Amino acid sequence: MTKTFDFSGTNVVVTGGARGIGFQIVKDFLEAGSSVTIWDYDKDTLDASLKELSAFEGKVKGFQVDVTDVASCNEVAKSTGSVDVLINNAGITRDKSLKKMTLDDFQKVIDTNLTGLFNVTKSFLDQELFSADSGRNRIINMASVVALYGNFGQTNYVASKAGVIGMTKTWAKELGRKGFTANAIAPGFIETPMTAKMPEEVLQSIVSKVPVQRMGRPEDIAQTCMFLASEAASYINGTVISVDGGVTL
Ligand code: NDP
Repeated sequence: MTKTFDFSGTNVVVTGGARGIGFQIVKDFLEAGSSVTIWDYDKDTLDASLKELSAFEGKVKGFQVDVTDVASCNEVAKSTGSVDVLINNAGITRDKSLKKMTLDDFQKVIDTNLTGLFNVTKSFLDQELFSADSGRNRIINMASVVALYGNFGQTNYVASKAGVIGMTKTWAKELGRKGFTANAIAPGFIETPMTAKMPEEVLQSIVSKVPVQRMGRPEDIAQTCMFLASEAASYINGTVISVDGGVTL
């Protein structure tokens, strides 16, 4: 894919950046000249991702963190330092029908996908780590197309992602006058370890319903993040961009 963005001098933080969509976002911002900090849960995955990015030594660093843990978010934000673009991408699924879903299944997903975004964003905001004069304070939150339309077996996940959209719009209103934009991306079905867990016949049936006849790629989401972080998107605030090949039409 042709790279069209220049983010030299920009500090970017990507949660859940060690694999899947997050890892592609990290790679694309590095290639566009940013310094990038990866926040992720699993130390081994994090180390493996940093090893794969060794060509960008000095421009990329990573911290092991659980976004559900407020104290660790605060500590890691301090170690991360100044940020221009925060991409709240970490997320999990625990799919079950409502009848089978336990309160623990529900709570875990809300804690990570919704409260986690609150914790991470607050950790930078409260410690005044968003760089005041970059003119490019951007918050990009990963929602999902299912937040807009519902999905069988995903009461917890859909609730968390619908909450992300509401929270994004509120931040757009509250933080706009302070030089921020806050937007959400609603990916459709993207080829990542998360969707690799789904049975092949389910994946085939999804593709058959996508007008462009393919699963999304992590690059499709990464390029949308770059657009939202770019000067070209400085008047886009509080919106949700669906990147789903038209699956919901
Ligand atoms: P992956 O599972 O591949 O990656 C998510 C990353 O987030 C993992 O590295 C995971 O770590 C990390 N993570 C999970 N929990 C925590 C936590 N508590 N603290 C810190 N990091 C954590 O997911 P995808 O790349 O597929 O998805 C990325 C985002 O996009 C998610 O928010 C997802 O909901 C959203 N999305 C994805 C779609 C898809 O089709 N793939 C569709 C719509 C939205 P670990 O592996 O150790 O758990």
